[in-house]
Amino acid sequence: MPQDLSDIVAEVCRDVQNEIGTGRVADYIPALAKVDPRKFGISIVTCDGKTANAGDADELFSIQSVSKIFTLTLAAEKIGAALWERVGREPTGSAFNSIVQLEHESGIPRNPLINAGAIVVTDVLLEGNGPQQTIDSIIAFLRRRADDDTIQFDPEVARSETETGDRNASLAHFMRGFGNVKGQVADVLHVYFRQCAITMSCRQLARAGLYLAHAGSDPVTGEEVVSEARARRINAVMMTCGHYDASGDFAFHVGLPGKSGVGGGILAIAPRHASIAVWSPGLNEVGNSLVGSLALERLSALTGWSVF
Ligand code: GLU
Repeated sequence: MPQDLSDIVAEVCRDVQNEIGTGRVADYIPALAKVDPRKFGISIVTCDGKTANAGDADELFSIQSVSKIFTLTLAAEKIGAALWERVGREPTGSAFNSIVQLEHESGIPRNPLINAGAIVVTDVLLEGNGPQQTIDSIIAFLRRRADDDTIQFDPEVARSETETGDRNASLAHFMRGFGNVKGQVADVLHVYFRQCAITMSCRQLARAGLYLAHAGSDPVTGEEVVSEARARRINAVMMTCGHYDASGDFAFHVGLPGKSGVGGGILAIAPRHASIAVWSPGLNEVGNSLVGSLALERLSALTGWSVF
């Protein structure tokens, strides 16, 4: 790497400065529409202990679909390879909340990072546990990973999602009709909406994802979170499916496994190097953070961290 990490982050911030405030804040979940589109934060944690933060890196935002990486981790740990009998690992080419493919594919969602797939993953976590216990265990996992006991969900966002969650409810009922959701739909959605409504800062999120950059283990605590093989697979799914219908475009421009959420956050993993979180609420037409994606593209170019 040619320069110091903080110089690189400063350069990334300068490069995206003129774009900040562009894009459209998600408004299909009313509570998200209130967020200031001019926010921008970035945090990097490297496997060898360096950190760099800039902008609104300490401000909490709704992690939304970024939560799907952590529930995928927990479900893979819970049932291992059996998970892949209930959810695929192929990109979709259709919208994150689409129902059309599910009919042709007998209620087995294409991948765990679209809504249908994430709902199945949440159902796996729910099996044998109550809804409260399940959301508590997801939050406990994030608190451990981020080394921060303050992490929680935003009840207003959870309520807003519940009130407007008809498409997710449809997906869940449809899959239950195929036997691929086993719990009660109300319970599965109770957990799913709360996991999406978890709020974290870029600093917390980057720290939480570090095990994926470090072959499954936390370089700070030494804890093995998942095996090396499993970390590789989660990264593979992030690379191929993490950016909705624009996952190919993200791979092309950024070249890092990543997962975005409609709150404007993106978690990106530079294997063997670093975990990176960016946040900027304005989204592009496919629903990925516009400035966040640009910032990661610049970061990847400046660091040479692209996996390609
Ligand atoms: N809670 C959102 C939904 O289910 C998540 C969407 C996203 O971030 O992709 O619609």
